[in-house]
Amino acid sequence: MQITFYGVRGSIPTPGKEFVRYGGNTACVHVALNDGTDIILDAGTGIRLLGKKLLSKTTPVHVLLSHNHWDHIQGFPFFAPIFQPDREIFITPGIVHDGNTHAVLEQMNGSLFPVPASALASIIQITAKPVQTCQWACGDAVIKRMPINHPGGGVAYAIQTSNAKVVYLTDNELYPPYKKSSDFLTFVEFCRDADLLIHDAQYMLSDMPAKSGWGHSVAEEAVKLAMASNSKQLALYSHDPERTDNDVDAIIEHCKIFIEAAGSPLSIFASAEEQSLSLPNH
Ligand SMILES: [Zn+2]
Repeated sequence: MQITFYGVRGSIPTPGKEFVRYGGNTACVHVALNDGTDIILDAGTGIRLLGKKLLSKTTPVHVLLSHNHWDHIQGFPFFAPIFQPDREIFITPGIVHDGNTHAVLEQMNGSLFPVPASALASIIQITAKPVQTCQWACGDAVIKRMPINHPGGGVAYAIQTSNAKVVYLTDNELYPPYKKSSDFLTFVEFCRDADLLIHDAQYMLSDMPAKSGWGHSVAEEAVKLAMASNSKQLALYSHDPERTDNDVDAIIEHCKIFIEAAGSPLSIFASAEEQSLSLPNH
């Protein structure tokens, strides 16, 4: 499978000269399976560029949403395939506390966005899976999901083929002050032996306790999860809008020091827009 990052920023888009290397678009990752299936994780502003690239195809698109916070759905009205006649777009909403499965289309209501969802030329199907923990087949992959710790709720996804596994676990607070949906060891099992773990790392230990309860993890805890689950690579994700490129570089250097000190073979990088990698990574 081929993984390409299109949006790696948390909370709000961050244009500007200090955010060029990692990028300022909000959450969106493309997973291209070897059988040609296109899976999209979240529909933040990064999905706009991905949509332009997918216009050359006519095959169905599978969009998996973690939750409805705006930075995860706000790019959808600008996703060009939704205007392609008869293009099939299958959306799996995240399970959220208010039960809203259609927020991604409700933002296209004529008031928040001029083109109403009812006027789109594509064929959009939103299929809510009944429970947070379930699995289903998609192309030559099996998709699993589990609840995350986040205000308002949400889910993580694991996509596994015969030879590769990627886990998308963002907007997740590993150690929240509120009641957990999932505990650390459950996350460890979910991520077990991943070729790539994409995990929220919006904060640093130094941001705490001020940001405790905001629904994001600190980078050091994401590293701990990656090592405990024997993940091969960790992509730090959902960069804080206040972190410049140089700040993100510093976080990576900080994390590398204690990965090395732990004697772990884990490879770590900070996800960046249009960065692409194939799995498994031999
Ligand atoms: Zn969120």
